[in-house]
Amino acid sequence: MTRQDDAANRKLAVFPTFHKVEGRRVVVVGSAEEAAAKVRLLAETRARIEVIAPRIKPAVAAALDTAGGVWVRARFQPGLLEGAALVFAASGEERQDTAVVEAARKLGIPANAVDRPELCDFYVGALVNRAPVAIAITSTGVGPVLARHIRARIEALLPRETGDLARLAESFRDTVARVIVGAAERRRFWARFFSSPVAAHLQAGRPDVARAEAQRLLNSRSDDAGFVWLVGAGPGAEDLLTLRAQRVLQEADVIVHDALVPGEVIAMGRRDAERIAVGKRKGAHSVSQAQINAILVREAALGRRVVRLKAGDPLVFGRAGEEMAALREAGVAYDIVPGVTAALAAAASARIPLTLRGIASDLVFATGHDRSGDTLPGWAGLAMGGATVAVYMGRSVAARVAERLAEAGLAAETPVVVVENAAQRGETLYAGTLCDLAAFEGRDDVTGPALIVIGKAVGHADLPESQPLRAMLASRAVAAA
Ligand code: SAH
Repeated sequence: MTRQDDAANRKLAVFPTFHKVEGRRVVVVGSAEEAAAKVRLLAETRARIEVIAPRIKPAVAAALDTAGGVWVRARFQPGLLEGAALVFAASGEERQDTAVVEAARKLGIPANAVDRPELCDFYVGALVNRAPVAIAITSTGVGPVLARHIRARIEALLPRETGDLARLAESFRDTVARVIVGAAERRRFWARFFSSPVAAHLQAGRPDVARAEAQRLLNSRSDDAGFVWLVGAGPGAEDLLTLRAQRVLQEADVIVHDALVPGEVIAMGRRDAERIAVGKRKGAHSVSQAQINAILVREAALGRRVVRLKAGDPLVFGRAGEEMAALREAGVAYDIVPGVTAALAAAASARIPLTLRGIASDLVFATGHDRSGDTLPGWAGLAMGGATVAVYMGRSVAARVAERLAEAGLAAETPVVVVENAAQRGETLYAGTLCDLAAFEGRDDVTGPALIVIGKAVGHADLPESQPLRAMLASRAVAAA
């Protein structure tokens, strides 16, 4: 798949909107089996439901009765659609459905023909109703069963009282707008409101206590100081983010992120949050660490809620120590949200038991080079003792790392696995031994972030498909031919 194909696949063929139907006629023409399902779905709304058909099936009649809709006992005529907000063609006959859709279009009314996507102006999503909150899920006709499956999961996730919470918030809206002047401050109040015990009280059937709690929140509101979360974004896959990381991303006014954090994760923040890229790629420091520290302090001083988003875990080779010191010095409150560090993601992908009874009882998170760029096999002794060593930032110094380890006496046949782009698109595994590691450094076909795992335990990996660590010249020549 080309990059363009990939980009195009990520775009929707539809634009989700919510159509106003309160007090308006929504017309179902025909009485096929599916008409009953449409009537039941429409019954979730405040539309005035009409079924137009000369005869009507018992299931449709029953649904209509429950919904409090009306049956217009007539053959279809275009004039009957006039003034309708939406039209559903559900006769089960192609010619009739086509005529209905065409008539609706002439009147400027959007139409849907049941089970005939080619005739539809709009699709109907699987609905989760928490009025006034509505969630509609569509697979754009590709996988209706999948859409229903997702719906079931959202139903389970979203308490029944979500609608009550929305209504309670609505009843406070004017007061909040009067009492809290700044838009950013108001947003912070609502963020606190929705994550406060108000929701829990509603769920427990204590609406009065919920209301009192909401009032208390409003009264006790202090002028908010800024706040910084140092957040681990994990190795890249969106679903390896923690739930807490996801929540604070939603609360952040500003997201300060590294180059290694994929766009999909950065996009999980609020749409109106400011995004500041401080990408640091090896050798090309676009923004210095001192500047990053200054940005965090400055944004927090403006009263903003800042997420400092880092790849993996923020406390592992993430320079969090310097950021924490700067925040502490400036008196800015902060919290840390851990993430799945690259070593753990790489081990999971390569199915390496990082510790193994009787084989490996130490686990070392090491870096390929220190501040001066020198290799640091200070952990060579540990490797000798059977530790599993995960080497970060090791690709460009793999040869020296291998050399020093060999000098220290580590066996040339010690197993090594490298995971490139762990838990990301383009993930690739390379397997070999310590003596292949030097050759790995020279490979110009490995360009993604790579994590090297060395140790006896690596030999016990249930390794999925992998490539040799040492690029095979012959196969490259074939590929080039
Ligand atoms: N804080 C990060 C590490 C940052 S240092 C963490 O906890 O993971 C950057 C190094 O991490 C890279 O040079 C690479 O060795 C490793 N790394 C980060 N993401 C990776 C990924 N998805 N796959 C493989 N290695 C990764």
